[in-house]
Amino acid sequence: MLTVDEIVVRIGEIVGPRLVSTNPIDKINYQHTLAYGAYRALPDVIVRIESDPQGNHALARILSFANEHKIPIVAKGGVGMGISSPLKGGILLDMLGMDKILEVNPTMQYIIAEGGASVYAIHHALRQHGLMLANFGTYGPAVVIGAMINKGGIGYGMTRYGWIADMVLGLEVILPNGETIRLGALANQGTSFGPFQKWIHLPDLLGLFTLAAGSMGMISKVCLRAIEGKREWLHDYCYAFRRDQLLNVQEALMALVKGEVVYDIHFTDRWQYHWPMEEGLYQKGRIPDDAWFFLKTILLARDEEELAFKEKRMRRIYESAGGIDVPEIAEKAMGAKAQEHGLHGWPDYHVMGPDGWCGAVVRHSGMFAVTSKMYPLTFLKEMYDLDEAAKRECGIWDGEHSPQHDSYVTRDLAIKEEYFVFYNPYDDEDVAKLRKWMALVQEFSNQRGVVWTAPTLSTKGPWPYERLTDLYDLVKQIKQVVDPNNILNPGALY
Ligand SMILES: Cc1cc2nc3c(=O)[nH]c(=O)nc-3n(C[C@H](O)[C@H](O)[C@H](O)COP(=O)(O)OP(=O)(O)OC[C@H]3O[C@@H](n4cnc5c(N)ncnc54)[C@H](O)[C@@H]3O)c2cc1C
Repeated sequence: MLTVDEIVVRIGEIVGPRLVSTNPIDKINYQHTLAYGAYRALPDVIVRIESDPQGNHALARILSFANEHKIPIVAKGGVGMGISSPLKGGILLDMLGMDKILEVNPTMQYIIAEGGASVYAIHHALRQHGLMLANFGTYGPAVVIGAMINKGGIGYGMTRYGWIADMVLGLEVILPNGETIRLGALANQGTSFGPFQKWIHLPDLLGLFTLAAGSMGMISKVCLRAIEGKREWLHDYCYAFRRDQLLNVQEALMALVKGEVVYDIHFTDRWQYHWPMEEGLYQKGRIPDDAWFFLKTILLARDEEELAFKEKRMRRIYESAGGIDVPEIAEKAMGAKAQEHGLHGWPDYHVMGPDGWCGAVVRHSGMFAVTSKMYPLTFLKEMYDLDEAAKRECGIWDGEHSPQHDSYVTRDLAIKEEYFVFYNPYDDEDVAKLRKWMALVQEFSNQRGVVWTAPTLSTKGPWPYERLTDLYDLVKQIKQVVDPNNILNPGALY
């Protein structure tokens, strides 16, 4: 077993001493995530990896070194939510210097970027060619692509196109023994054809390195499918329903996903608008008093004709389910138009700050906690009712706790549901209410078989894994093959 000093010297020889730190302040800074104080594990050594403009880097050498000496190693992307906390210490590998956009191919509609490139930078590069990733999140420049593939990233557009992982055509992955493997479309890189399509003439292994919490291999390159896209092709709408119309909402959502005309639907409830309404951000009378559910909906249409067709179909489905058009929210809370309202706007695509969508709520309610999971759309009513009952039982169904829903409808006829609660982290009684509610959500969600977003053993406990029985055992066996010393994010999945 090497000492920390020896690790620092040996890694310094690989990446240069400037990129290695054991400074306690650096360790605390790297600990900062959206999960705030929930994860207190610190690494022994922080290493930053940087590639040159051609994309050369020392990732394989670092991994071989860590493997040879059985040192845990965890890739660290952007701001994070805690799943890159180094639970067993060792090396925290800051990937942000592996950030090059290597190729945009507008003809074949793909982009190749390094694993540490920010999703934002990828969008920026695509926009220069009239392209976009079909799926865009609210994370601005804060998150990176290798991490989003490993964590199950999602965003607007998933009602039509799916998860970020669904955009993956190919990956280049480095294994703990230092071997580099190219999968999917990237297996074809270097041939005359170059990368095209995801499927090759071998069983597909892309999924092994997807949603894996960085525990199977490190992603050094990503090839993603892009679509033609312009900001002005996206059109925003909002329909509202009463509290007693949740079954109608569920049925309308099913019809819209099946109809494949809608680019994105975002499901929220009145709590999301409670404080902005109190602050006067929305004009009185323009949001019906009895409106409880708000379905923010985006259509992607390249011209008037396409828009007219899609709009007609969408309106027919919402209106026959009893929905009411609420342009006030579409105008002030969605897309680029929201920014024109300046401080009185509430753009969805910024989370924090005076203009961010959590800003008004945080001013009144404190810090937020969120549970993030997926379940079939057919269970929307049952799950919403259960969450409301749990919040009432815990005394948090009120404006002070702003217990809102903020969720994505997916093309899998499912919902990526985010239950929020805002709370006072300095008040033990309030924290106890929050914990009680989280335990209730965990219980009723696990009982029904939800898919958690970005779970790890440390966040969700063993049940979500153990219920997968033989599959989980097989994944553990495969992990033994690719990572026999269990150095990659140990404790995350196994
Ligand atoms: C302001 C804000 C808004 C957000 N909005 C959204 C949203 O709209 N949609 C959404 O899905 N999420 C959203 N998130 C959450 C986001 O998905 C997480 O922060 C997430 O963890 C993303 O990864 P990261 O870059 O922060 O890296 P990390 O959390 O550090 O990494 C995530 C996982 O990937 C692993 N990993 C990192 N890089 C690699 C690599 N190259 N190879 C292998 N494994 C790797 C890590 O070890 C870890 O297990 C938001 C976050 C913020 C800060």
